[in-house]
Amino acid sequence: PFEVLVIGGGPAGATSAIYTARKGFRTGIAAERFGGQLHDTLGIENLPGTPYTEGPKLAGDLERHVGEYDIDLMNLARAIELVPAKQAGGLHEVKLANGASLKARSLILSTGARWRNLGVPGEADYRNKGVAYCPHCDGPLFKGKRIAVIGGGNSGVEAAIDLAKIVGHVTLIEYDDKLRADAVLQAKLNSMDNVAIITGGQTTEITGADGKVNGLIVKDRKTAEERKIELEGVFIQIGLVPNTEWLQDSGLELSKHGEIVTDGEGRTNLPGVFGAGDVTTVSYKQIVVAMGEGSRAGLSAFDYLIRTEPA
Ligand code: FAD
Repeated sequence: PFEVLVIGGGPAGATSAIYTARKGFRTGIAAERFGGQLHDTLGIENLPGTPYTEGPKLAGDLERHVGEYDIDLMNLARAIELVPAKQAGGLHEVKLANGASLKARSLILSTGARWRNLGVPGEADYRNKGVAYCPHCDGPLFKGKRIAVIGGGNSGVEAAIDLAKIVGHVTLIEYDDKLRADAVLQAKLNSMDNVAIITGGQTTEITGADGKVNGLIVKDRKTAEERKIELEGVFIQIGLVPNTEWLQDSGLELSKHGEIVTDGEGRTNLPGVFGAGDVTTVSYKQIVVAMGEGSRAGLSAFDYLIRTEPA
């Protein structure tokens, strides 16, 4: 068995494994796709110390870094079930889709999250070519341009407020007939003069030409009338879904959004099971945050292992 088994090989999981391997613990990583969301990312400009890199390059750099240590990296390994240890110090078991079963004294769960897609024509074609999901990441690419934010919940309205300071014009589009964001955010948004708000609007297509977004089509849900809005960017803010479906019946505490509930040290409600990165309740889903969380979970696993007698 492993002393530390990390499930998920994104920035959080890779960092955890580097930390525990450097403590001399027998460490494994089981990941469906090593690198995680980095593979869906093009330019990264907010990783301090690295003014510019690209997602797939950073994934390769992390894999090389993991490879510097005696870490058993199992790629294309999808976890489907967690069977927690019966007592502190016991072995946890993780079952994989390929039929294998892995055992470990401590687990670090870092299976990340995925942005909910709109599912309209053009979205996939123009991803990273005008279609974006992360305002903190990609906002500056649209300086002075016209953009839309899809989604009028807190994240959509926050994104619109944030982006209105950078871009030329923001159209916020909400499917429902009113915004769902907190009143204080709505008031702030309403006070900005380069923002238009459309409620009861269904985005039916993202259009483009020459490999970039040039507009979207929004349908009025009452009149069924469609109109085209010309713009250069679309930020989709309709939710981030944590990859925890496989943990539903494990006894691990999840939030109402399905995130793994962790405390300030990356601990979950199960002794010896830690969480890190986008899959947890920690706010701000960013690479540098995931790495920091991964390091903390790794150190907490170390602390657990030196204090807990094997059962
Ligand atoms: P992830 O990167 O999601 O990795 C999760 C890992 O778990 C993967 O290896 C996955 O295959 C694996 N996994 C999932 N389910 C299972 C399972 N059941 N069994 C085994 N393995 C599993 N952040 C920035 O800081 N700057 C940016 O510029 C930036 N741009 C972004 C652009 C896009 C398009 C997207 C989608 C995200 C962007 N982000 C950016 C956010 C950033 O990518 C995430 O915050 C970060 O990758 C989270 O790391 P993580 O390790 O927690 O999870």
